[in-house]
Parts: sequence; structure tokens; C-alpha cells
Amino acid sequence: MVELSAMSFSFEVQKEISGQLGRAGVISTPHGQIATPAFIPVGTKASVKSLAPEALNNLGAQAVLANAYHLYLQPGSETLDQAGGLGKFMNWNKPTFTDSGGFQVMSLGAGFKKVIDMSLGSLDSDEAIAESKERLAHVDDEGVTFKSHLDGSMHRFTPEISMQVQHQIGADIIFAFDELTTLHNTRKYQEQSLERTRLWAIRCLDEHKRLTDQRSDKPYQALFGVLQGAQYEDLRRKAAKDLSEMNSSGIAFDGFGIGGALDKASLGQIVSWMSSELPRDKPRHLLGIGEPADLFAGVENGADTFDCVAPSREARTSAVYSENGRFNVSSATYKKDFSPIDKDCNCYTCNNFTRAYLNHLFRAKEMLASTLATIHNLAFTVRLVDRMRQAILDESFLEFKTEFLAKFQAKALD
Ligand SMILES: [Zn+2]
Repeated sequence: MVELSAMSFSFEVQKEISGQLGRAGVISTPHGQIATPAFIPVGTKASVKSLAPEALNNLGAQAVLANAYHLYLQPGSETLDQAGGLGKFMNWNKPTFTDSGGFQVMSLGAGFKKVIDMSLGSLDSDEAIAESKERLAHVDDEGVTFKSHLDGSMHRFTPEISMQVQHQIGADIIFAFDELTTLHNTRKYQEQSLERTRLWAIRCLDEHKRLTDQRSDKPYQALFGVLQGAQYEDLRRKAAKDLSEMNSSGIAFDGFGIGGALDKASLGQIVSWMSSELPRDKPRHLLGIGEPADLFAGVENGADTFDCVAPSREARTSAVYSENGRFNVSSATYKKDFSPIDKDCNCYTCNNFTRAYLNHLFRAKEMLASTLATIHNLAFTVRLVDRMRQAILDESFLEFKTEFLAKFQAKALD
């Protein structure tokens, strides 16, 4: 039974970028295939904010990533289990992902969200993170105790609980529970944390195997190990090596998530260190990355899938993307601009509405403003990564990257 259902997850590399680690491939899951590289829109609480699943499907999304922490707190993972799993609950019949909850437990729960950014600031010690803000999450070797950001109630996540929650939610691809660090933690703390994450990864494999056997009537769920190590080459390589060689209860990870503190300037390099240590035949997901330049760097260096809240979050604040860069469609400049957001975009929004109309909707605070802008930004980002895939297949990835970024980064329109 396990052998049979395990057959329903696989990854095939179709073409590699000559002389680079990047590749195009296909991930197969029980709910269909994902042609990679691919951008996966985020539906944190089993909903991509302001969009019906039909719109998400029409804009070309191949999968959705939801969040275990949020769904555990509300409505509760047992509700999703009873509903028949995440996809069925939200009426999305393509592949789904959930992240482990580690990031949210330690960022939202811990109350030091603002420190977990992608830039290296002046802070350089553990104390700087914990002392200046009320810390609402406590990490120990067994797991994390945290306060709900909804009602202040106390909860505890361990690797086992994260696996149980993610099995109940029932996504096709789930992630191991890891400890999140920031670029501001000391080197010594990064080493301790990496070892803790390694030990947690073993516990995730054991619990995942137990749950997979116990719930053998459910569709197979693929477990990805999460690689940390911040900005340190030796730690990043060690994490990749440790987790790719890891085998416990007779199983190994089905793929890998590249997570944690990433200094944007060296993102491509960090991904390349890990990709060169990871097995070629397993997919790699770059967690929380969605800016065009970062997507190119990730794809070039071997990442296969990406998720990020930025395209949809920015859309709700009227920041929209075009081939010539990002601009704010609610600015006065566009009040009487009757052209589409992006003349080269074939999304529902660009096919049917003008900048002037979106400008009006945002100023009038109409809900449709968020819907239309979100459709466009997600269509733009999904299509950008789809074009990278096509460029890899056509052996023109580097030319496409140079051409696209020269235009996109040239100037902002507002
Ligand atoms: Zn569009």
C-alpha cells in the first residue's frame, strides 16, 4: 500500500541550464503535475486573499501553498481532515503545499517579526533580538512553546505535532519542522540551531512514516526537509549533505526546502552551495522568495519551486508589476490612463480593465480593487517563472534573464 501510493510522487529533470545548476522538470503529485520551475501562490489560511480558486486557476497557478500554523489555530487541522483535506476544503483540485509552521511560530509567535528581514542590520547578537521585544515563543530542544497571535492562548509545536497537523491538513507536499534563525543570530547560535533542526528532521521522518502507514487510505504526502545555515557556506553545505543523506524509519526526504535567513545579495550563491550538495533527482523549494531578480537567481542556481506573499500583498496596497518595473496604480498619474496595467499581459485584469479604473477602485476603497490587482500580480509572477522554464527548454535562459531584468529594473513608472 505504501509502495503503491509512494509512486504518486516523483520528480523528473527534463533539461539543465548548460554549465549551471538550474533545471526544468516535472513534479508529479496525487493531485496532478507541476511543471518547474514554478511560482506557487500563497493561500495562508486556505484562501488566496480576494481570489476565488477559479480565478487562480485561470491565471495559470499550478499549485497553492497554505500555512500549517494559521490553519492549526483556525479553523483547526481536524476540521480540514474531516473536510477531506486542504484541496477539497477550499475547492482547489490541483497540488497543494503546507509549510511546517516553524516560521510563523517563531516570527508571529515570537513577536520579533520586524527583525526577521532579509537585510543585515547593525544588530549582531542573540540578545539584540530577544531583549528589545517581548518574546512570545520559547524554543527548547523538544519544540517550541508559543502564544497564539489571535487570542494569546498558549500552544506547543514539536516536530511530531507539526507532522500530525500537516497530515490532517493533507497537502501533497509538506515540510519538516525547523528552527528559524535570523541573520542577527551569532555564528555559535546558528551552529546549535542547525544541529537542533537536524535532530528535528529525524523526528519528522519517523513521525511522517508512522502517520503515512497509519493513514494509508489517504493520498501520499511528500515530505521535504528544510535546510538552514544562514549566510555561512560550511553550514549551508552541511545542512544539505546531512538532510540528503538522512534516512530514518526506512525513509528519506522526498525533496528539500531552502529556508531561513537569506541575505538577498548572496541569495544565488547560497542556493548554489546547497544545490551542488543535494541529489539531482529531488525537487528543491525556495521558501518565501518572489521578487523577479531573486526568482532568476533562484532558478539559475537550482531551485525548482517558489512561494511568496509579496505579489498578492503588494497588489492589495495598489503596487502592481509591469515589464518596465513596479508602480503604484493609485497614484494621480494614472487617474486618466486608459491603458491596461501591462500591455503585454494577457490576464483577466489587463484584458478587461484600465489603469484609470483600478485607480478609481483603490481610491473608492472598493473590494474589487484588491481582486483585480491580485489577479494581475500573480499572473505576472507565475508567467515570469513559466517563461524562465520555457527559456531553459529553449537554451536561452541567460539571454532572457539579462533582457528581462534590464527592462524591469530600468525605472519605476511613478
Ligand atoms: Zn495583467
